[in-house]
Amino acid sequence: MSEIVLTAEYSLMSDYRGSEFIGFAACAPKIVPEWLYRMVVCPPVPQKGGIVKYAPGGTRKIEAALLERGFDVAVAHPDHLDKVIDDGTKVLGITSNDPLGIGPASSTFSGLMGRETYSAVFFRKLLQDPIIKENGLKTIVGGPGAWQLREESVRRELGIDCVVIGEGERTAVKIFEKALNGESLPGVVEGEVVPVEEIPSIKRPTINGIVEIARGCGRGCEFCVPTLRYYRCRPIDKILEEVRVNLDAGLDRILLHAEDVLRYGAKGIIPDEAKVLELFEKVKETTGWGAYISHFAFASVMAKPALIMGLKELMEVPNKKVPWIAGQVGIETGSPRLIEKHMRAKVAPFKPEQWPEVVVEAHKLLHDNHWVPCSTLIMGLPGETEEDVIKTVELVEDLKDCKSLIVPLFFVPLGVLDKEKPFTVNDMTPEHWKLLAACVKHDLNWIDELAREEFRSLVHRIMLQRVLIGLIKRGIKPYLKAMEQGLNPLQNASEH
Ligand code: SF4
Repeated sequence: MSEIVLTAEYSLMSDYRGSEFIGFAACAPKIVPEWLYRMVVCPPVPQKGGIVKYAPGGTRKIEAALLERGFDVAVAHPDHLDKVIDDGTKVLGITSNDPLGIGPASSTFSGLMGRETYSAVFFRKLLQDPIIKENGLKTIVGGPGAWQLREESVRRELGIDCVVIGEGERTAVKIFEKALNGESLPGVVEGEVVPVEEIPSIKRPTINGIVEIARGCGRGCEFCVPTLRYYRCRPIDKILEEVRVNLDAGLDRILLHAEDVLRYGAKGIIPDEAKVLELFEKVKETTGWGAYISHFAFASVMAKPALIMGLKELMEVPNKKVPWIAGQVGIETGSPRLIEKHMRAKVAPFKPEQWPEVVVEAHKLLHDNHWVPCSTLIMGLPGETEEDVIKTVELVEDLKDCKSLIVPLFFVPLGVLDKEKPFTVNDMTPEHWKLLAACVKHDLNWIDELAREEFRSLVHRIMLQRVLIGLIKRGIKPYLKAMEQGLNPLQNASEH
């Protein structure tokens, strides 16, 4: 068998029934029993003899880098490590988005519900698998949540030998080599930025057909991970190579990933319309229909509004397969003052004072063209005042007629702001509760229509729309009134 086995914590080894919106449940707190969560929300990817058919994009990149260097590597499901690991296995590489459940989304949901996240539960379970000790495996952890494991005491408690923070194709491969040679490993290592021509193409399919089209961002928001500083776009032939790997494995779902898909091929901050359309045309020729997208930016939408219409026309949306083009986007705040203070480049080429208008106009344009933004907001940015929060509430209310979802998140100290205090439920002021209420009202207003369009099979409708969304609505509604009045509904509930 293989000298290196790669895996990921359980909540990453699922396609979330092919839904971006359900994917948010990866950061959910543990409110229903694990078996129910696994069955309804997060079913495991298919595996044979422990080897998964599909794996997270990041895991596949490390696998590709290791294969290109001649290593013997297998990607296993975390529930079936015993079928893949044997005497010849020396190293276990683990991908995690959120190992301790303290990322922005999970700390918000778990803070509000007072429960640990499934991601943290699954990560701990994975590291407690007795097969790791029995075989004396070296454990190397990477992935977007690796920053959570900087503390030596945490790594020691979990039994982690090395954490790679940032890009892995150069650095992690060297660490795997050291581990195989029995050399001692550094506790934490920062991953070197990988030049675009060295980013390997995946050799095996990814979950939901995710294909990386660009890496990094370059807008430099102070609260964001610094590893996104350097922006690089992959050439179209490399992208198509990965699309084909997924199609050949029987996937008909392809998801193009970048921090801002609209800026593919751009030399600066303004989208290059021709480059993006060329990419999507070629992808359409290959898939026969187009592709889903991961993220985009409101500033890019308003810098090139014709691109929004162009992509809609190119992919002939809406159609039977694709009801709308959805993607994750950051609103972050409705306060130009906070934009100026923490994320000036996020709104470029516009000015901070134009931000609320940019967000509103972008929403209208997207709504009219069958695009659905799934946006995030940040509560508790350093220096935030009552007036800043009120401006954000007003902005959310201005978006009520546009089909979208808005998810408020607690500030987590990352990047330039990593010495600041994390925002918690105890820091919430009456304005924050009103902001949370405004977001919940907005989402409840659109969730049924979105679910009806997204879940078209009867099974999905019953399991996800009726059961899951029904439970969420019933759970939230009683608290909404208190929140609208600026009260903490959890405190009120325990007092009565
Ligand atoms: S625009 Fe998004 S990805 Fe880019 S730095 Fe800001 S928060 Fe990070």
